[in-house]
Amino acid sequence: MARNIGAACRRCRRENLKLYLKGDRCYSDKCSFERRAFGPGQHGQARFKKQSDYAIQLREKQKVKSMYGMLEGQFRLTFDKAEMQKGVTGENLLILLERRLDNTVFRIGYASSRNQARQLVRHNHILINGKRVNIPSYVVSVEDVITLKEKSRANAAINENLEAVVRRGVPSWLELEKDNYKATVKALPNREELTMPIQEQLIVELYSK
Ligand code: SF4
Repeated sequence: MARNIGAACRRCRRENLKLYLKGDRCYSDKCSFERRAFGPGQHGQARFKKQSDYAIQLREKQKVKSMYGMLEGQFRLTFDKAEMQKGVTGENLLILLERRLDNTVFRIGYASSRNQARQLVRHNHILINGKRVNIPSYVVSVEDVITLKEKSRANAAINENLEAVVRRGVPSWLELEKDNYKATVKALPNREELTMPIQEQLIVELYSK
């Protein structure tokens, strides 16, 4: 499966925002953005000057794509799906992104980053309603039960991640039973819970041109 393998920290510096792409490192003083909060490259410090409307819209889309670790084709498909749904397209888009299985596994706390979550899914560690699902773009639904495969429960990294999830918190649309390695989708995520600074309307404007 294709994925963005560009340097993660450069992407944060490019978007002038911590995107939390590297798990625990993002919360430590090793975070590159904390040490160098300006754009990457020789002219990085000059990059955040006045931008055209198009550039602002483009950057917003690139930021959200990087956040969820997606490439253009897949992101555009998700946008098209959001557009076909009832309601506000921008909000539909963010909710569809949140409902992706890789993001859900990250939110539950089995993984310290969406990248790591994607690996767990691809490597068959995750069951949904008792059945193996290894597709990171799978969209979870209300009442889905997401468990960790029996054999994977002894994995030290996953257990460390579950301990560390206290720091991030599990969103209210998910219910985690940490000791049973089980999480239930209680409701669909809602826009208010997404605290990252995203102006989804800019993405809608960009794709509507
Ligand atoms: Fe971004 Fe900092 Fe994490 Fe690197 S360590 S991905 S700069 S938040």
